[in-house]
Amino acid sequence: MISVEQAEALILGAVQVGVASDRVPLSEAIGRILAMPIESALDFPHWDNSAMDGYAVRFEDVVNPGVTLTIVEEIPAGAVPSVAVRSGQAARILTGSMMPEGADTVVMQEWTARSSDGQSIQILKVPPEKGDFVRHQGSFYRSGQPLLRSGLRLGGAEMAVLAAAQCLQVPVFRRLRVGILSTGDELVLPDQPLKPGQIVDSNQIALLALLKQAGFEAIALGSVKDDRESLKRAMAAAIEQCDVVISSGGVSVGDYDYVESLLGELGGEILVRSIAVKPGKPLTFATFPEQKLYFGLPGNPVSALVTFWRFVLPALRKRSGQSSPWSPLFVTATTHQPLKSDGKRESYLWGSVLGAAEDLQFCPAAGSGSSGNLVNLAGSNALAVIPIGQTRVEAGDRVTVMLV
Ligand code: AMP
Ligand code: MG
Repeated sequence: MISVEQAEALILGAVQVGVASDRVPLSEAIGRILAMPIESALDFPHWDNSAMDGYAVRFEDVVNPGVTLTIVEEIPAGAVPSVAVRSGQAARILTGSMMPEGADTVVMQEWTARSSDGQSIQILKVPPEKGDFVRHQGSFYRSGQPLLRSGLRLGGAEMAVLAAAQCLQVPVFRRLRVGILSTGDELVLPDQPLKPGQIVDSNQIALLALLKQAGFEAIALGSVKDDRESLKRAMAAAIEQCDVVISSGGVSVGDYDYVESLLGELGGEILVRSIAVKPGKPLTFATFPEQKLYFGLPGNPVSALVTFWRFVLPALRKRSGQSSPWSPLFVTATTHQPLKSDGKRESYLWGSVLGAAEDLQFCPAAGSGSSGNLVNLAGSNALAVIPIGQTRVEAGDRVTVMLV
């Protein structure tokens, strides 16, 4: 058995960054990973503009409160100013509008009084500094610098930047093809009647969902019986077809647990066989030529998901071209109830993190902490981590929590 840290280092060390790249239309880029830095020929903002509704003035004109300025024009958003603001003058300006020539400062509307004929304004309050409420050209971004870096996963904010930069064809990494294979004679599809001894192949559904959520191309490969030859054929086909294969079940020491020996027979280099982690000890990781990866997860529904979150997802992030950090996010929280571990393996106890900032609270899921209990894993958003050597965390004590 190797430690969680050793396993993570071995796995990430064996994974190369990035599959081949592609170009997709902007409208299809959401969730994809940038394969090249994006630059823009334009500065952001593109021109000096107003951050407020108010009046564009010359700062030297407004250093004393009470001064009256003549309004020379109104500049709504989208308009180009037609006249320069000279001494004793102001232009009505709205948020985002172009600053007129001659003006260097915006006085917010609330600090002014407009004359009844609308021709002039009186300055009621002096703006503290020259340049106030002006967003200067290039103050957010200078043309020629990287606007978005390679390896970024594109979410809503990144899509806004790409759109603003008029990046119509986005260079992205090809989506990672991840196959999911379940093993076990007992497994049936969710729509099939259950005979005694059978259970639904819930791992397939869970892993498909998690992969899709994370932006990968998830390929449902179904379940295969605990028959050595059938399993070997299914594994070989999966490895052929996918960049990464995730199987569940068949990795323990039972009579029908063939995954590990078949990986060897199929030409895989096995780097991880068992990890000092609970749940999830019998995780198998192998690499194949062409940078293909194989994860043999334990079959227990909680073990499969915990090992997916802890070990598989970081590897997929790296392999798909995302820049680091690839590891899960860990925070510190106060546990509501005592937490127990056998102290022999690093334990991950599922539950929920609530609260905010300095006052995060961890509540373990109600009910059994069995790795076969998929029911109370639902609704969990975090895993409390108890290190090797520690058997208890008392209620009210701080504990490291992995967010999922
Ligand atoms: P195994 O690792 O194959 O010995 O499986 C351990 C436990 O997980 C057994 O109780 C299996 O029935 C269960 N299991 C295995 N695969 C799945 C699956 N795809 N969906 C739900 N439970 C599973
Ligand atoms: Mg099995």
